[in-house]
Amino acid sequence: MVIVMKDNATDDQIKAVSGRLEQAGFQVHVVKGVNQTILGALGDKRGIDLRTWEIMDGVYEVLRITEPYKLASRTFHAENTVIHIRDVTIGAEEIVIMAGPCSIESDEQLMTIGKEIKHAGAKILRGGAFKPRTSPYSFQGLGEQGLSIMQSVGKELNMPTITEVMEASQLDLILKYVDIVQVGARNMQNFSLLKELGKIDRPILLKRGLSATIEELLMAAEYIMSGGNYNVILCERGIRTFEQATRNTMDISAIPVVQSMSHLPIVSDPSHGTGRRDKVVPMARASVAAGANGLIIEVHHDPDHAWSDGAQSLYPKQFSRMMEELRMIAWAIGRTL
Ligand code: PEP
Ligand code: MN
Repeated sequence: MVIVMKDNATDDQIKAVSGRLEQAGFQVHVVKGVNQTILGALGDKRGIDLRTWEIMDGVYEVLRITEPYKLASRTFHAENTVIHIRDVTIGAEEIVIMAGPCSIESDEQLMTIGKEIKHAGAKILRGGAFKPRTSPYSFQGLGEQGLSIMQSVGKELNMPTITEVMEASQLDLILKYVDIVQVGARNMQNFSLLKELGKIDRPILLKRGLSATIEELLMAAEYIMSGGNYNVILCERGIRTFEQATRNTMDISAIPVVQSMSHLPIVSDPSHGTGRRDKVVPMARASVAAGANGLIIEVHHDPDHAWSDGAQSLYPKQFSRMMEELRMIAWAIGRTL
């Protein structure tokens, strides 16, 4: 951490700042310039509150020079993390496509969609059994029945599966049926849930919160990793901005930004990112071009009658055409799909 003092800071103010740093366990180096004094504070104190020094008299600026997250940071782990889920690998050269309905509705529904997306080249089957709906009157998911459908369809199609956990009490049940556990945007900062996920060894797909900064997303990943589970896949799913034309604003730039800050794989969710079927494909193309490690896409064979998120679900035909396009983009940037 570096503390820049104001031009007119007095010796007493500099002493007070330096004393407070030492008290907090830092080794302090004072550099006196012609007009300004700078204090360099050495020590690994990731949990500290910078405002402690920002509000002190004579302080102009406090700068962090190491990230507040360590396990998720590329500084401490230069190589990309590669996660293996049965015979699927996320984080390497291949771009992994996860697809399926927003909600699991029935055996026939998931099987119909599953066959289509597998045929088009998707590797992982998605589907929600516990749904975080904005309205308590909307369909809340089939619960265990949905999980069991997902397990049998996944087995039949030989595809790993992913579903969302909404609270820690659902975890044991979900682990019996599903390969990857998804943390939804609304739960990104549910710290007690994140701590529980740190104790398991199953891969976690962690979605960016609706108004979360990239640093907050990485801090959420740090919660899971500090518990011992390093298999974290990050997911950009759009953020809330002043824009009303789309459900969320798809932050494509988060993909290369996360990749420079962290070694964890990042996948993109243009379905929730835009909330509109006609905007999903262009954002999927852009995500692959931007270097995403994978995509998670909602697909439904009868979206007009889908129990949730029909408006953003692709028709199977649209999905398979999109896959063809993505393969060309992947090829152009030296990746496979
Ligand atoms: C979902 O994947 O269906 C979902 C609810 O996603 P999010 O948490 O990104 O809104
Ligand atoms: Mn959805």
